[in-house]
Amino acid sequence: MNVRTRFAPSPSGQLHVGNARTALFSALLAKHGGGEFILRIEDTDAERSHTAMETALIKDLHWLDMEWAEGPDVGGKHAPYRQSERGRIYRTYIDKLTQQGLTYPCFCTPAALSMSRKTQLAAGKPPRYAGTCAHLSKAEIETRLTTGPKPALRFRVPEQGETVFEDLVRGRQVFAHNDIGDFVILRGDGSPAFFFSNAVDDALMGITHVLRGEDHLANTPRQLLLLQALDLPIPQYAHLSLLVGPDGKPLSKREGGSTVAELMEMGFAHTAVLNYLARLGHHYESNKVMSFTELAEAFDISKLGKSSAHYDLTQLRHWQKEVISEVKDGLFWNDLCKSTQGERIQKLVPKDKWQEFIAFLKKDLKHSLLPSEAAVYADMLYSDQLEYDDVATEAMNTASDEYFSAALALLSKHGQVYKEYVAALGEATGLQGRKLFMPLRAALTGHVHGPELDLIWEILGPYRVKQRLEKAAEIAKG
Ligand code: GLU
Repeated sequence: MNVRTRFAPSPSGQLHVGNARTALFSALLAKHGGGEFILRIEDTDAERSHTAMETALIKDLHWLDMEWAEGPDVGGKHAPYRQSERGRIYRTYIDKLTQQGLTYPCFCTPAALSMSRKTQLAAGKPPRYAGTCAHLSKAEIETRLTTGPKPALRFRVPEQGETVFEDLVRGRQVFAHNDIGDFVILRGDGSPAFFFSNAVDDALMGITHVLRGEDHLANTPRQLLLLQALDLPIPQYAHLSLLVGPDGKPLSKREGGSTVAELMEMGFAHTAVLNYLARLGHHYESNKVMSFTELAEAFDISKLGKSSAHYDLTQLRHWQKEVISEVKDGLFWNDLCKSTQGERIQKLVPKDKWQEFIAFLKKDLKHSLLPSEAAVYADMLYSDQLEYDDVATEAMNTASDEYFSAALALLSKHGQVYKEYVAALGEATGLQGRKLFMPLRAALTGHVHGPELDLIWEILGPYRVKQRLEKAAEIAKG
């Protein structure tokens, strides 16, 4: 069987990492089976869909190395791939259901529906459409059509029986028809509802495997009923566990890094994001950084996990570290220059010092994985106007005048070798441990924590060390 998968986003906002993972698994499955991956834009909700979002979405998917055989931008044998352009196709299939007596107009107002839902919930029942308009007479329908607003169209769910299907992730699923309730397939404004257009398109586009979030699980029996009634082919479904934050709660936007665009902006490498997302809920034997093709080769749908996957930036940083450790120095530098911090970094790091700078970053990758962190190091190593954080300022203020006078006086005799210099400073001031090192670190780096001082000492060189100690002496004097 030729595997055909699809990603079917509604272009109403930035691409969330959870949706990016769904797209990725779908693309990996198709590539693994030598099949096709398709992009379909579900923009039937005109108010919430934006063309700019479609463009952004395409950019984000490409950034993650995804390519599609068919889609709104590349065309294909099942075009159009934007649902907003498929109205006539939907009409045909709506008519087929109506001819079978499987639809009816529903005149219920949103307020009446909401009231009915509340009453059912209060009675401890699952909310479902109460069937108010299910048996209106022809005459009644005629009158309402001429007087009231345009009705929605509902699909008649069989009263008896159940719909059963085998989910590729969650196993056998059974839904009693009695719990489903007749659902809307065409809204009052004439636009098709999600259940309908989504299922019809999957069938018409020859989709063999639908991978989507588990929040869609309860929609599937409705869609199966529609496809059966229309005698259309039924795909296999895999409902993926949702992504949650490190605390097990739904991902919050506030934490940052929950959309692909944000990760890009933060300076994460696309390979790092790709490798991390591919492992969220899918087990790979190898812990190595893999290309899209390698990830696809080893992709196995039976290895998709049922429990929710924890999305954690700390783990993404691990992949960033793996990627950067492998990348050649020149590329690492180029990427930094192209990043949002590029201008700042290039201003600070002298032209002939970029190799020295990259070598320094690579020695302390844990703290210099992102361009914003590299920029802090660029400032620390090359700035003429070092910025001090509050703790560092405090540390210099509490050190005595004599401390910095001694520190400056010892430079000419002992400044060549860092170890010898601190030994002499310890002797001259009678200090040791934190009291000896903290003011020096604050003066030289602007912070009280950071990389080994001997590394920094060498890069700063005698001129800048002196300049920074003089500045610290001024600060200490107040
Ligand atoms: N447009 C739907 C969504 O974004 C697609 C669901 C599906 O993949 O079937 O949630």
